[in-house]
Amino acid sequence: MSATDGSKKVVAIAGGGPAGLTAALELLRRSDMTPIVFEADGQVGGISKTVNHRGNRMDLGGHRFFSKSDWVMQWWQDILPVAAEQTEANEVVGLTYQRQSRQLLPSIVAPISTDAVMLIRQRLSRIFYRRRFFDYPLKLNAATIRNMGIIETLRIGLSYGQARILHRLPESSLEDFFVNRFGDRLYRTFFKDYTEKVWGVPCREISAEWGAQRIKGLSVTKAIAHAVASQFRSTRDTAQKQTETSLIERFLYPKFGPGQMWEEVARQIALRGGKVHLRHRVVAIERRGQEITAITVRDDMGGVRRVACDSFISTMPVKDLTALLEPEEAGVIRVAQKLPYRDFMTAGLLMRKMNSSPSRSARQAANGMPPDNWIYIQEPDVKIGRLQIFNNWSPALVADPDTIWLGLEYFCREGDELWSTKDPEFVDFAAEELEKIGMIDRREVLDGTVVRVPKAYPAYFGEYREFDVVRTYLDGFANLYPVGRNGMHRYNNQDHSMLAANGAVNAIIDGGLGKSEIWKINVEDDYHEEVADAKVA
Ligand SMILES: Cc1cc2nc3c(=O)[nH]c(=O)nc-3n(C[C@H](O)[C@H](O)[C@H](O)COP(=O)(O)OP(=O)(O)OC[C@H]3O[C@@H](n4cnc5c(N)ncnc54)[C@H](O)[C@@H]3O)c2cc1C
Repeated sequence: MSATDGSKKVVAIAGGGPAGLTAALELLRRSDMTPIVFEADGQVGGISKTVNHRGNRMDLGGHRFFSKSDWVMQWWQDILPVAAEQTEANEVVGLTYQRQSRQLLPSIVAPISTDAVMLIRQRLSRIFYRRRFFDYPLKLNAATIRNMGIIETLRIGLSYGQARILHRLPESSLEDFFVNRFGDRLYRTFFKDYTEKVWGVPCREISAEWGAQRIKGLSVTKAIAHAVASQFRSTRDTAQKQTETSLIERFLYPKFGPGQMWEEVARQIALRGGKVHLRHRVVAIERRGQEITAITVRDDMGGVRRVACDSFISTMPVKDLTALLEPEEAGVIRVAQKLPYRDFMTAGLLMRKMNSSPSRSARQAANGMPPDNWIYIQEPDVKIGRLQIFNNWSPALVADPDTIWLGLEYFCREGDELWSTKDPEFVDFAAEELEKIGMIDRREVLDGTVVRVPKAYPAYFGEYREFDVVRTYLDGFANLYPVGRNGMHRYNNQDHSMLAANGAVNAIIDGGLGKSEIWKINVEDDYHEEVADAKVA
């Protein structure tokens, strides 16, 4: 029987991102409970939303759809089938993502013209440094040596040799971790600035554990051995060709960006009688002992509503959830309030054309558009961290195929100078930076916009070390399920958030495997949106 009014049980859900919407749809598919989603934003998708600016669509971060979980891969395809032009029904498709490979067997495919489809995309991303392009992940090949220069390559080699002999011990910081594995010079050249741009703190202050967790299996010795061996290998070596093919990353991508997936899920929730309330923020939580009994939501117009519930699934940041629960324990309040986050801004720039690159290794379209999905900007004289080329994610993201639609990504802190810059000035600043590194001529900018993403990265340093205090407190509420990326303060991709949401649904429906199983999701996995190989972001 429902704790609310004796009829159907109500599950209140805070957040209409991948986690919240997965939970709502699964509850509707598998139970007779009523899920009600409250989303503070004006659209669904959370960090995985797609922002439509005058017909040009922005993906905040570039979201690859890939999962080791068959359940997730099938779930996505049930919502948006793979485009028929890219594969045939029941044909095995090989996908690879950050050294993880899997075979996909699309059971249904749909014509690309129907729009509600996913594309199979191939990844290309490079590093831009010293006004030149380097392979990503970094390869020890002729192009790299040419770009670095013989002298600098030798210096890097020498510094690497030194690091092998004089190991930094104890290895306590991320800086120690990098230097021990790559040598001081390579660390300073390719790792330090980018990592510090992303996290906003010196590598000295980030724990070495972070590197150990994130950068498995990368070694300079292996790279050298591979480079030397490849000089002696016949170009007709088929085994090698197969390896290279398997290393080409391919992933699924909704035709109109990641938000298309979540808009379609919201539509299906509504068709099944579920509710998704946009512009509704959860602002208070009522509890009786260790049970959540109701939440209060406030809409954009200031209207306030109390919603009684039998269970509460929260995907809002742990920091906000804990504050609303008003814990008695001072330790819980202290840790939760100091959990660290990194925020993120993207400037969308619509270009008539881009400059052609002086780099010999650059391949470009006639209008100067690079072939990459995204480019890591390693230059220390600009603040931009990454450049997305949305045309290369899906041509359907761009209204006019003769234009180039770019996303200039900045890592920042809510309220800092970048964050507080007014939109038109920020667009000018971003264009100026791209001009400074020689990629564009500002006069070719046709349009621009800015999107801010608060708490884009839940960070694993500072008070996070004591996170278990908060987790134990939250687990004490029998009918409360914190899930998702900020909901669990976990570096989750969409699939992890969905798996956690599904775990909560299992627990609500029939007791499931319990909360500790939900917390285990994405603890052993080592693939993340930007972390494999070298870029710790
Ligand atoms: C730069 C970048 C690149 C990424 N790349 C990838 C990738 O390639 N592949 C991939 O799978 N994943 C990627 N991700 C991760 C992906 O974006 C997240 O894992 C996913 O969006 C998390 O879903 P979620 O529902 O847990 O949380 P969110 O997406 O954060 O959604 C939570 C929702 O809750 C809402 N909310 C918050 N507080 C309240 C409140 N009080 N009341 C009501 N609503 C509230 C928010 O508005 C938000 O919509 C990337 C992330 C970033 C930042």
